[in-house]
Amino acid sequence: MTHDFSNLRIDFPVLDQHVGGRPLVYLDNAATTQKPRSVIDAVARFYERDNSNVHRGLHALSMRATDGYEAARARTAQFINAADPAEIVFTRGTTESVNLIAQSWGTANLKPGDVVLCTEMEHHSNLVPWQQITARTGATLRYVPIAGADAEGGLDLSAIDELLTPEVKLFAFTHISNTLGVTNPVHELCAKARAVGAVTVIDAAQSAGHELVDVQALDCDFLVFSGHKMAGPTGIGVLYGRRALLDAMPPWQGGGGMIANVEYAASTWKPSPERFEAGTPNVADAIGLHAAMDYLDAIGRPALAQHECELAGYACEELSKLPGIRILGPRPGQPRAGMVSFAFEGVHAHDVVTFADQDGVALRGGHHCNQPLMRKLGLPSTTRASFYLYNTPADVEALVTSLRKILDFFG
Ligand code: PLP
Repeated sequence: MTHDFSNLRIDFPVLDQHVGGRPLVYLDNAATTQKPRSVIDAVARFYERDNSNVHRGLHALSMRATDGYEAARARTAQFINAADPAEIVFTRGTTESVNLIAQSWGTANLKPGDVVLCTEMEHHSNLVPWQQITARTGATLRYVPIAGADAEGGLDLSAIDELLTPEVKLFAFTHISNTLGVTNPVHELCAKARAVGAVTVIDAAQSAGHELVDVQALDCDFLVFSGHKMAGPTGIGVLYGRRALLDAMPPWQGGGGMIANVEYAASTWKPSPERFEAGTPNVADAIGLHAAMDYLDAIGRPALAQHECELAGYACEELSKLPGIRILGPRPGQPRAGMVSFAFEGVHAHDVVTFADQDGVALRGGHHCNQPLMRKLGLPSTTRASFYLYNTPADVEALVTSLRKILDFFG
């Protein structure tokens, strides 16, 4: 049975407010999602009852905090079907997870002549760390191009076989583009990378909280995502890594919690995941992330994915009727993930967002951390409407009504 999505906003206290004299229509979910009461309560409960440092304490609160933190790790492993909780490293978010892989795996494995492959649609978080590590190691960075003047063809898959040479040591790609609403064929990309012996990194920032993601079925090496983009708290993120790879990687930060033994002369490290979690971890927000995963799975991720795709599809159809609009990514009627980015001839995205805000519609305007992609598409910026489980067709209608007013104003 599919879930009833018509009134989930009552679970989200922040949505119970008016902006510009109207009920808030929150369509900035690709930037960050709102948090249900159960997540807010889980974080508050931790601070009210269990707050303590983890792992090194033998008193009741420390044991409860440790149990809560490790239960969150086990729940995360289950959420993405990892074989072993030790394959889950908690980080601050997607950005930190990618930087960890680049700094640790990259430093140990890349050398001149090697190639790192990513794609033209990567968020800066899955692009700049590869620029930095290839510059430091002397490796080369290459990009799989996008297809079509509006990227309506997604990735140009015809270019991949030529680009995936044996020199490619790592292939990093996003599951769902944060700007285009394109879903990449991640199974196929992992299989092709494996065939040339390249390690794979999937940026699941826009997918993990929106659809089922199964790292064993994908057969990927690394997969990264952020708690705040999936109804969880900010400041907590996930790095999934294959156990054998993680155990062979050097630590990227040193300090308490990650050592096996310390002498004045030198130290040795714990295995994964502790090796990569130096210092006091973000216990409260890991526990909040656990609650977010429970919330999402009570709804059911397949139903959630379908709901978002239907909303984005409806939005794309309705937006395409507006004069002078340019929509990026899949054409109306084609499958698209839960967002639509668009631009109007002669109206800057920042004006669109500012005017929509006066109608209580929260959008995002700018380059969405995709500067090179925007340049390639010949756009300074776009406006993005992105959907989540609490949005409804009425929200799409509020968006379109507001945009019509803006277009009338700008003549
Ligand atoms: N990758 C994608 C596809 C994203 O959409 C984002 C955030 O917008 C990130 C990476 C970075 O996530 P965070 O800022 O949570 O580290």
